[in-house]
Order: sequence, then C-alpha cells, then structure tokens
Amino acid sequence: MKKSTIWMLTIVMALTFAGLLYVQVMYMEEMIKMREQHFSEGAKRSLYALSTALEQNETKKFLEEDMMVIEPEIFDSSQPQLQGIESYDFNNFRNNGLDDKISSYQKALKEQYLYQKGLLNEVILTILNQSSNRPITERADSATVKSYLKTELENNGIVIPFEYAIIDRNGNIVYKSSSYNENTNKKTIFTQALFSNDPDSRRHYINVYFPDKNKYIFSSIKFMIPAFAFTLILLIIFLWTIILAFRQKKLSEMKNDFINNMTHEFKTPISTISLAAQMLNDDSVRKSPTMMQHISTVINDETKRLRFQVEKVLQMSMFDRQKATLKLQEVDANNVIANIVNTFKLKVEKYGGRINATLDAEDPIVNVDEMHFTNVIFNLLDNAVKYRRDDCPLELNVATRNLPNNRIEITIQDNGIGMKKDDLKKIFEKFYRVSTGNRHDVKGFGLGLAYVHKMITELKGDIRAESEINKGSKFIITLPINN
Ligand code: ADP
Repeated sequence: MKKSTIWMLTIVMALTFAGLLYVQVMYMEEMIKMREQHFSEGAKRSLYALSTALEQNETKKFLEEDMMVIEPEIFDSSQPQLQGIESYDFNNFRNNGLDDKISSYQKALKEQYLYQKGLLNEVILTILNQSSNRPITERADSATVKSYLKTELENNGIVIPFEYAIIDRNGNIVYKSSSYNENTNKKTIFTQALFSNDPDSRRHYINVYFPDKNKYIFSSIKFMIPAFAFTLILLIIFLWTIILAFRQKKLSEMKNDFINNMTHEFKTPISTISLAAQMLNDDSVRKSPTMMQHISTVINDETKRLRFQVEKVLQMSMFDRQKATLKLQEVDANNVIANIVNTFKLKVEKYGGRINATLDAEDPIVNVDEMHFTNVIFNLLDNAVKYRRDDCPLELNVATRNLPNNRIEITIQDNGIGMKKDDLKKIFEKFYRVSTGNRHDVKGFGLGLAYVHKMITELKGDIRAESEINKGSKFIITLPINN
C-alpha cells in the first residue's frame, strides 16, 4: 500500500469518526433538551395544580365552617321562607285545588333559593375579606403542601425527591423542607404563586427544586453509553490499524533496503571469485606459482567474506521463524571472551588499533548456548571495528565483572564514531542502520544488533548502549550467572 493511500484512508476515517461523534453528541444534546423541557412542563403543571388544590381546599374549609354557623338558622322555623314548606297544609291540597298549591310551593322554593344565594355570597365575601388575613402557615401548612405536591408530581410522572420552601413577596422564607438549600442555583428552581386572588402585598410563592434532577435527566440517555463505547473501541482499533499499517510500510521499506544491501554485499565477492576463476583459465597465470598463490588467497578471503554474510542473514532468519532452540550449557564467559579477543587482536592491529581485555568476573559461569554467545560478542567487536574513527587509532576495551545480584556484566567499549541519542534508541531494531553519510562506506544489513538483542533477551539478560558522537560507544550486557 502506498503511503499516500494510508494517509487518505486515515483522513477519510478520521472525518467519518468526527462526523459520527458529532451526530451522537448532537442527538444526546437534543434528547437532554427534550427531556428537560418535558420535566419542566411536568413540574410547572404540578405546581399549578397544587396552587389550585390549595385554593379549593381553603374554599371548602370556609364553606364548611360557615355552613356550621348557618345550618342551624336554616332549620329555625321563625325564618319566613322556611314557613312555606314547614307550614304547608296537605289537607288544603284536597280542599282548594291543585293550581293554588303548586304556585304556593314554587313561591316557597324561590324564596329559599334567594336566601341560600345570599348566604353563599356572604361566605364568598368572607373568604375574600378574611382568608388573605390568615397566616400562610395556616392556609397552606407544610404537611399538606408536601403531600399535595408529591401527589401532583407523581401524577405528572415525576417520582424523584424534591425540596420546597414557601416565601413571601420579598423572597423571605416562611418555612421550608428540611434539606432546602437557599443557595441553590436560581435557574433550577420552579416558582408558583399561591392564592392568586390575594392582594399583591400579601402574595406568597412556593419554590421547588429537585436535587437529583440531573441524574434523572441523564438516566434517560444511559442507553447512548454503549454507542459511545463502541465508537471509542472502533476508534482505538482504527488508530491501531493505521499505526500497524505505517509500521508495516516502514518495515517493508527497510526490507527493500536490506535486499538491496545484501545483493550488493554478495555481488562483490561473487564477482571477485568469478574474476579469479577466469584468471585461472589463463595459461600464463597458471605457470606463475606466485600468481596462483595470490589468486587462491583472494578466492579464500572472498569465500570467507561470503560465508560470513550468509551466516549473518541466517542468524536472524533463524529467529524469525520460531523461538530458537538453544543448546544451553555452562560456559565460562571469561574464557570465551578471551578466545574471541585473541582472534580479533590481528584484525584490530591491522588498523593500528589496540584491544584490551579486563576480565575481572570471579564467577564467570553462565548458562548459554556457546555458539550464539560467541556470535553476540563477535558481532559487537565487529561493529566496533566497522564503526571506528579514521582520525585516531582504535582503542577497544572488553571487560567482565560480577554484579551483586548474581549477574555478570560484560562491557565492550570503543572510541569510534559514536551515535546520536535518537539513533541509540533504535539500533536494536531489525534492519535499522544509522545513516553514516559519506564519512564511512561501511556495508551492513542492520541485523547484527537485532540478533544480539534477541539473543541476550532469550538468555534472560539485558543489553543497553551508551554512546557519544565522535567519542565512542559502550555496549553493556548483563547475564544471570550459574552459582
Ligand atoms: P549493521 O552493522 O549491519 O548496519 P547492526 O545492527 O550491527 O547493523 O548495527 C546497527 C547500526 O548501529 C549500524 O548501522 C551502526 O550505525 C550502529 N552501530 C552499531 N555498533 C556501533 C558502534 N560500535 N559504533 C557506532 N555505531 C554503531
């Protein structure tokens, strides 16, 4: 996949996700708004119903009280309008004829009606005059308000705790529910005037708020949470995929570089060997023993070089396939290192350099695969030679010592070209090579340190590197020792 394709996919997916999230958020906002509106309407309706119920209650009470006073009067026979019914003589019904009786009965009823109307007017007047004079605590006591309010809220589908207070015109609290908080946000309080016929100066209001209102509103959009979670999971998976795609892309680029490198590395010895073979066909060459000697040395050297390259690629591919089967055995690290250092002495001296070994570890026995352990030390020493400086002789120090935690530390230090911090972080990655620019024409596959790292990890050890550009590098390995 091309890099531009990955980028395009990323942008399209990012826009899609942004759109999806936007729609979800908008939908949720709309839901919350609707739910709040619905709640507000319900609360307002309940408060209005409460106010009406209180007024009706008061009227009923007045009527009952007044009737108690008036009722005995109704049945008092001295009242003229009642005489009509009370003194009605049924014997006359037979004597004086039907019409007369009916008209006298109607007259009595009319008089009674007028009297009752007068009484009611009186009651209403009393309500108007007297009721607003009564203290609000009497007209709407806390228990009644609470029970009416609860019922009305329930009728409107609001079954959550509420706090209320009765306040006067100036906002002073007359009484309140036990947990009513005066500092509650004004916007969350619902207010309703009580006894709306009262004169303005004696007007009272009820304030109600719902402490759990937000929870109640949000509970209605709970079902959106899984949608959000799925979107989030999708987003994470998408990001992960993109990262993998980029990584894969980089890896494939590195692999291409590796193949180019390898071809180049193999081509040189092959062409040298083939040239030597052609020379052997020449009669004059065959007759000269020195020439023959020279050609055989060239073939030998180039074959060795080829074998070394093949070995390196093999080392890594072996680990790529599966976990290597290591032939672990007790090995004296000091001995192995001393042997490798000996082999390397010639190579280092060829470049005018020096190699020192300070093998101080008193407990040098490690449980490793000798072949791989040798390869590891060999790779590190080989790099030290490869990445030496031209302007000063190579100084290579190899040391071992025991650490207190049953481990052995092996350090390989050079005074070579060194590396930048950014490169230092990546040198143990497969195929990673520091671009050495034109300063060094060193060829490699970027596999050596990856192999070293993998091997040491496999052996339950650690490896880290310290380096300073133009000063040198130090590779520090620690391995568990066998007591
Ligand atoms: P290769 O040597 O084949 O490129 P390695 O994995 O052995 O691959 O090394 C990775 C990179 O680390 C090298 O390209 C080199 O730039 C850098 N490097 C390794 N060892 C040293 C060293 N001793 N001094 C400076 N640079 C080093």
